[in-house]
Amino acid sequence: MSDPGKLTELSALGEFGLIDQLTKNIPIHNKSTVKGIGDDAAVIKPAAGKQMLVSKDLLIEGVHFDLMYMPLKHLGYKAAVVNFSDIAAMNGIPKQIVVGIGVSSKYTVEALEEIYAGIKKACEVYKVDFVGGDTTSSVSGLFISVTVIGEAKKDRITYRGGAQVNDLLCVTGDLGAAYMGLLILEREKKVFQANPKMQPDLSDHDYILERQLKPEARTDIVRYFSDENIIPTSMIDISDGLASETMHICKDSNKGCLIYEEKIPMDQDTFNTAKEFGIVPTIAALNGGEDYELLFTIRQSDYDKIKNSQDITVIGVITDNSEGTKLVTPDNHLIELKAQGWDALKKRDPDQLTSNQKSSD
Ligand code: ADP
Ligand code: MG
Repeated sequence: MSDPGKLTELSALGEFGLIDQLTKNIPIHNKSTVKGIGDDAAVIKPAAGKQMLVSKDLLIEGVHFDLMYMPLKHLGYKAAVVNFSDIAAMNGIPKQIVVGIGVSSKYTVEALEEIYAGIKKACEVYKVDFVGGDTTSSVSGLFISVTVIGEAKKDRITYRGGAQVNDLLCVTGDLGAAYMGLLILEREKKVFQANPKMQPDLSDHDYILERQLKPEARTDIVRYFSDENIIPTSMIDISDGLASETMHICKDSNKGCLIYEEKIPMDQDTFNTAKEFGIVPTIAALNGGEDYELLFTIRQSDYDKIKNSQDITVIGVITDNSEGTKLVTPDNHLIELKAQGWDALKKRDPDQLTSNQKSSD
């Protein structure tokens, strides 16, 4: 690490010096990585009997992240993890990443080192190899493009389109927290902009802030499926909110579904913060994005294999296409799921929510 007090302009190192600086001491964890950073291309040898999964996410400053409240190291970590999540959503394990970065001259070498520290940390945690990239200048702002390569056995790859009638709709973890974390950060940003002397008040929101700033990919669930001999019939990761992802599964599977509102798993702080912002908590789960949990369907005969998992909640059931995609309220009303702007629920009085939500009020 360079002297923390001293910042280095990018031009001081030049492109090759910069790449060397950013990519030194990168370990290799996987046998499938034959050659990592350092030549014109990385060399990857897919494991016998496995298929390769490839995905990319592009992050643009001001569109996908705001450096006012996103620490650079977290940004690097998140950029990698959201890609790992896409591989998990195919029931695969991420193995390699390639990172493209476009950066304007307002960034220093130390700033890029922070981003890379986050990417490298994610790679270490998930045992993914960082095998290459490209570095270029941008006229303004920062772009990060991460391509991930993963693997899965052919017969375990899980698509969005395989849900069958009567399959159980399940979700991992809890929902809505990342969106509530974002609202807290945006609120504190406004306070700060109005009066830069004000310190942000982030107290007591550790969990939801972490869910926004440092999400995790559920590769642990992919391993659980393998250990328990479960192949979900369909799966997607929740990047845009439960409603939108459920509709993807139903549309691609040509099926309908019922989601039971009171079953949707939510953390207590998510619930309280939603109320504080005047948002019906269920809305945060349905339409708030970036939770990076897995939404999947399993056959009813696999229920015994998941019923004791603390990480998995059954929230609904797959129905015939003609039934539509519906939310069942605690008082048994059916509401059509909408991907955005879910007016019917928004207009409901928050005090008329479920008894279990009330009791946790
Ligand atoms: P080329 O001119 O052929 O694109 P580069 O000089 O850009 O080659 O890259 C040299 C090596 O460094 C390659 O292995 C490449 O994958 C890697 N590399 C370049 N930029 C990055 C980066 N931002 N992050 C990680 N690896 C990088
Ligand atoms: Mg290059």
